[in-house]
Amino acid sequence: MSAFLSRKLLRLAAPGGKHARLMVLTYHRVLERPDPLLPSEPDIERFAAHMAILATHCSVLPLPEAARRLREGTLPPAAVCITFDDGYRNNLDVAVPALQRHGLPATVFVMQNAIEAGIMWNDLVIEAVRRAPATMDLSTVGLGNVALPPLAERAPYVSRVLEALKYRPLHERWSGALELYRRIAAAAPPRLMLDEGELHRLAEAGIDVGGHTVNHPILAKLPEDEARREIADGADWLARVVGRRPVSFAYPNGRPGRDFNTSHMRIACEAGFELAVSTEWSCAMRNSDPFALPRVSFCDSPASRLPWRITRSYMASYRRRG
Ligand SMILES: [Zn+2]
Repeated sequence: MSAFLSRKLLRLAAPGGKHARLMVLTYHRVLERPDPLLPSEPDIERFAAHMAILATHCSVLPLPEAARRLREGTLPPAAVCITFDDGYRNNLDVAVPALQRHGLPATVFVMQNAIEAGIMWNDLVIEAVRRAPATMDLSTVGLGNVALPPLAERAPYVSRVLEALKYRPLHERWSGALELYRRIAAAAPPRLMLDEGELHRLAEAGIDVGGHTVNHPILAKLPEDEARREIADGADWLARVVGRRPVSFAYPNGRPGRDFNTSHMRIACEAGFELAVSTEWSCAMRNSDPFALPRVSFCDSPASRLPWRITRSYMASYRRRG
């Protein structure tokens, strides 16, 4: 389809004004080069191509402005926001230059604990499997002694270890992953997340830095006072580091009703946030609750398919809610 036609179709599927649809895109990291252990994460080439398409086909807005204009009924056609979860260093090093080339705004949701530790538990597992020799003792996660294939074929082993650790309590999950990593690598784990100085630089570059709790728990599984601490303390910490209070919030894991509920929406509002995003796969409409804005993710999509996938998701929102 020609660029002209696909732009026209997008505008038909997502008009502006009172009947506007808002599409919030989720990314996590943007890789400098393709990584066989992270097959669904975009490398810079794919990400830059995505950004070029968004810049020519859509109206990309800062998330806080888009949430406000959605409520007011003043969004432009084909309204899109770009978000990144968790606070990876490559958001600043790799993604921001690509965003800036097109003047595109974005929000990065950061979790306090990941910034302080420098790496998340799942990445410790990935980095352990990456560095492991031909055999790896995985008996501590119940998988026994495993013969590993070359790096290009190791991704399924990462998934198996992650599955084995995923539902353990937070501290056990972390210590299990750290133990695996330490057994294989003598050096300290690499820092994959932004540090506090970089977080500050990210905000200086005009990126909206949003809250994502202290420890990334499943909020719905916590007593309410603990959930409140996770949300509010994360916001206070961010305000200290960045120098202004965050207005955007993302629920960890993000499935409405399962990972968070209406009491967490209220807590996010009381903690001073103006909006919050979920991971429900949909577009937001004027009557959407600003504290449960849905998102979509096309990380794995070749850029050539992106206009069509966005159009199709806009159209699906008509079927779902009229
Ligand atoms: Zn997250």
